[in-house]
Amino acid sequence: MKDVVFPQIDRLMADLDGLAGLVDSSRPGWSRVAMTEVDTHSRYWVADRMRAEGLEVRVDGIGNVIGTLRGRGNHRKAIVVGSHTDTVDGGGRYDGIVGVVGALEVVRMIRESGIVLEHDLRVVDFYNEEANRFELSCLGSRAMAGALTSKHLATQDDHGRTLGATLEAAGWDPQLAGTRWADDEVLGFLELHIEQGPILERQGLPLGVVTSICGISRFRAMFTGQRDHAGTTPMTSRHDAGCAAAGVVLAVEEIATSAESAVGTVGSVTFTPEATSVVTESALLTAEFRSPDDAWFTLAREQIAEATAKHAEKRGLEHSVQWLPWERPTAMDDHVSSVISSSVGQLGHPAAHLYSGAGHDGVQMAKLGPVGMIFIPSAGGRSHCPEEFTDPAQIAVGVHALAQSVVNLDQESTR
Ligand SMILES: [Zn+2]
Repeated sequence: MKDVVFPQIDRLMADLDGLAGLVDSSRPGWSRVAMTEVDTHSRYWVADRMRAEGLEVRVDGIGNVIGTLRGRGNHRKAIVVGSHTDTVDGGGRYDGIVGVVGALEVVRMIRESGIVLEHDLRVVDFYNEEANRFELSCLGSRAMAGALTSKHLATQDDHGRTLGATLEAAGWDPQLAGTRWADDEVLGFLELHIEQGPILERQGLPLGVVTSICGISRFRAMFTGQRDHAGTTPMTSRHDAGCAAAGVVLAVEEIATSAESAVGTVGSVTFTPEATSVVTESALLTAEFRSPDDAWFTLAREQIAEATAKHAEKRGLEHSVQWLPWERPTAMDDHVSSVISSSVGQLGHPAAHLYSGAGHDGVQMAKLGPVGMIFIPSAGGRSHCPEEFTDPAQIAVGVHALAQSVVNLDQESTR
């Protein structure tokens, strides 16, 4: 397989800095939150950069920016690379954008290597990857995969405004015109992303080949007991909903800790009334589990059911557990991952094989075709915060691996 030239770090960092300059300066860190003016502005900035590299550019109904480098083979299937440029509020300057500016550099590197791809290469800046105020993430890729439904668009925020109306106000089309891709146009989707965790740094490895993206399952547990005087009601006569919720907080920690690869987080606990002089009448708890192991979630749900029943019965409480619609784990495609692994090897780099605890557009793109991901180290494992950092030299190694993987996938698919 033909070697691709090494990326030019200055050029790569100039794009990264250009985009990192387009942020909401009234917010901490690098904030480019979807559906804001600065996000829209940055999307057209990316479109301009794509045009400057000679790509055919279109911005679809929901704001995905797609630049195409035509292949010579006139194949229906395209190789797709990209990531997202939106951030969480107060986020960092590497999450997402590394995969977008890296993909632009890949276009230049392929050209400079004297390689003409057989397949079209589509560079995508996906719209709104981060969870938005409608508690929905990956809007752009979801719409591409035909999985953004009218029910999603009718979801309301705290002010009663729908997602559809909010998209329209941001300049996008809630009818999602031209966003849906056909089921047979993706040869492979490859995303370069920062790890957002500490594993590569701890192992001293420059690259990670992602094996799967964790599933996420969230629930609400509700306990209802009895409001009583906190001074006069003996401990043995209480129906304290707060204590039951506290038991489930610790159960979430224990269940996740005892699994081989899982995490569990309690997001909120709300007591009613919130008064130290009153025994808590009701308590609402929200929590989530993440794991790459599909079967484990069944066990976790059983254990939560047992824990809530145990803590409720002990105190004579009514209780309920409501599991929200979940994202199942998404396995990366074996073939695309093996192309990535061999490309990394061809460039002489060692790599870890690891799963992603964070969600990515690959979950949606897997509905359209084979998906693979490449991780680069995150300093201190920090992410979704202004401290997020990856050394430029490490970014360049990741971009090199991405470019070589694209070329190898293209060449081996036409032999
Ligand atoms: Zn991201």
